[in-house]
Amino acid sequence: MKGIDAMDNFDNFLFSGQDCEYLDVETYHRFKTLVEESLIGICIIKNYKLAYMNPKFAETFGYCQDEMIDKDILKLIYHEDIEKVSNNINRKIEGKIRKIQYEFRGVTKKGSVIHLETLGSRVNFHGVPSVLGTLVNISEYKKVKEQLRMAHKVFANTIEGVVVTDSEGNIEWVNPAFTVITGYNAEEAIGKNPRILKSKRHTKEFYKNMWDSLIENGQWQGEIWNRKKGGETYPEWLTISAIRDDRGNVVQYVSIFNDITERIKQEESIKYQANHDALTGLPNRFLYKDRMLATIAHAHRYGEKFAVILLGLDRFKRVNDTLGHASGDKLLIAVAARLSEVLQEDDTVARFSGDTFGIILKEVKNVDKLMFHVNEIFDKLNTPFNIDEHTLHITASMGISLYPLDGIDCEALIKNADTAMHRAKELGTNSYQIYTHSMNEKAHRWLSMENEIHKALERDEFILHYQPQVDIKTGRIVGAEALVRWIHPKSGFVSPGEFIPLAEETGLIIPLGEWVLNRACSQNKEWQDKGLPKILMSVNLSTVQFKNHNLISGVKEILNVTKLSSQYLELEITESNAMLDADFTNKKLCELKEMGIRIAIDDFGTGYSSLAYLSTFPIDKIKIDQSFVKGIPQEKEMMAIVKAIIAMSKSLDIKTIAEGVETKEQIKCLEELHCNEIQGYFYSKPVEPEVFEKLLMSGYIKK
Ligand code: C2E
Ligand code: CA
Ligand code: CA
Repeated sequence: MKGIDAMDNFDNFLFSGQDCEYLDVETYHRFKTLVEESLIGICIIKNYKLAYMNPKFAETFGYCQDEMIDKDILKLIYHEDIEKVSNNINRKIEGKIRKIQYEFRGVTKKGSVIHLETLGSRVNFHGVPSVLGTLVNISEYKKVKEQLRMAHKVFANTIEGVVVTDSEGNIEWVNPAFTVITGYNAEEAIGKNPRILKSKRHTKEFYKNMWDSLIENGQWQGEIWNRKKGGETYPEWLTISAIRDDRGNVVQYVSIFNDITERIKQEESIKYQANHDALTGLPNRFLYKDRMLATIAHAHRYGEKFAVILLGLDRFKRVNDTLGHASGDKLLIAVAARLSEVLQEDDTVARFSGDTFGIILKEVKNVDKLMFHVNEIFDKLNTPFNIDEHTLHITASMGISLYPLDGIDCEALIKNADTAMHRAKELGTNSYQIYTHSMNEKAHRWLSMENEIHKALERDEFILHYQPQVDIKTGRIVGAEALVRWIHPKSGFVSPGEFIPLAEETGLIIPLGEWVLNRACSQNKEWQDKGLPKILMSVNLSTVQFKNHNLISGVKEILNVTKLSSQYLELEITESNAMLDADFTNKKLCELKEMGIRIAIDDFGTGYSSLAYLSTFPIDKIKIDQSFVKGIPQEKEMMAIVKAIIAMSKSLDIKTIAEGVETKEQIKCLEELHCNEIQGYFYSKPVEPEVFEKLLMSGYIKK
């Protein structure tokens, strides 16, 4: 075969073996240009061989034309598509079809696979039925189409709403999620402006900022409230992106959004839970502090005052212990409701913990106003509560600190109100205390004291003083009350009223109480061994000691070690202590009684319990509290009380002793009322052991 160049090749194509004399030169060139410069690949396949191909055809497969002439066409086809292509060629050649358009995959010179679309027609070429084919490389198109298909699938199935608008903002396309969220279906939305979704929640400025950002950055993202078809507004998280063409002009906007109603609800619920007490629904300590910070800022700015109140329910534990926690919870809920009722809208009431509530009172222009509100709170709580068929009488203790007098920050104000509340509790139930600086000093002293009590026990800094208890008829010393004293190396004498409560709080009362009991018992035994008159030794037991599991065994041990006979030991427990848990008290007292120890009820009359009820306990003696004794014989009311206590005790066969007796008149009066014994400064203050020993030696005291 002669060498065929491109020109021969084309002539071959054009004339197909026919005479070319009828074709003028101009037409020939026009036609040649058309075919040779076509952007579409053109070829003639004769006997499965390439009889002609234009440059585009060769280029599509990565060859030059010369290399391709007479090339086996099937070698250019991807193996999986060979059958399909050869079938189509055959059908054309056999005249079954004239034209056919289809896609197939070809293989380039370098071996890569390309997607092609071809249109083939049957022609006669040099008398042989052949195929005239055109061909386009559609690889790129296929890739883009696939990407589009994927994108469409993703957008159609995403739970996020998608809106595509043109550059003017007319909606062109929406996805199904758009319909689910907004209620507008595609027909209703397409052609409209997204303004159909606009709520009235945002200002013009908001939308202006959004557009500014879109224009400047090509994107806007944020939370926006929109309106559904039904009119309901909802929050959504929205991202709008501008789509630009090659020249940078915006052609479309794509908005993607999701309804964040649930998320916001959840966030709000989490925020609520973090700031509120689960039981009562009141603000908790954190929110309380937040509110206080705001109140401080306001008060600071306008030179105002406000009060911080800590309110603790008195003996709430007793409700829990006797009626159960469920009732206790109901009571707390009811208390919370009443506190909320009594306070102004501007004020805050929060639950701090357990039975403690925190209040911020804003209207405290003067003390009268403050007292008015405080009394309102007391009144509100003092109305009995009906909980589970029980009528509960509740009292509360309040500690008050004032801004800016008692502190200018949350911590100081709360701490000082707390100190004041504890002071109120100490002084008795249903009362309030306003914080003063001296109380703070006291608290400081307390704190440093805790450490020192420890050391004092080690260093033997405690001593016992004894106060005689005298038979009113004979003037004979029948007993001694052991009262502890602390001789502090620096501060000197520290009164038990100061360190006993702290020792109770810290548990140090247990070793201290043991020391006292031990010392008092051995002292009594020493006196007996010296041949002095045998007397009763009274030792005070604190609540903590009384509740301690080791009480009985501890007392037994001390009696054993000191060898004091139990009949010479009397334990004093206060009335309020005895009343805390009647069953427990009864059990413990019986056990002590069985050991032969005597029991006295201290500070009687201060706990408002009935003597008849108390007498169900195995008690030997009632100690009439000093506060009543002080008032006799002048105060009628005190006289009546003391008289009643003595008469009742007599009838119940319980002895009586009057405490704090300081005058002759008191003694005379008590004698007439048939009180059994006397204790007080009139006879003797509590004195050191040596002094007491001398008193005891004579056995009697001046009468
Ligand atoms: P209390 O048991 O009521 O003790 C009587 C208190 O009254 C004693 O105060 C005593 O000094 C005082 N007193 C006695 N006679 C008179 C009087 O005629 N006039 C006046 N105005 N006061 C009188 P003290 O020694 O300061 O003790 C205070 C409280 O400390 C005691 O009250 C008791 O509750 C507690 N305490 C003292 N020693 C101990 C102890 O060893 N253990 C425990 N747990 N508590 C103790
Ligand atoms: Ca006592
Ligand atoms: Ca007493």
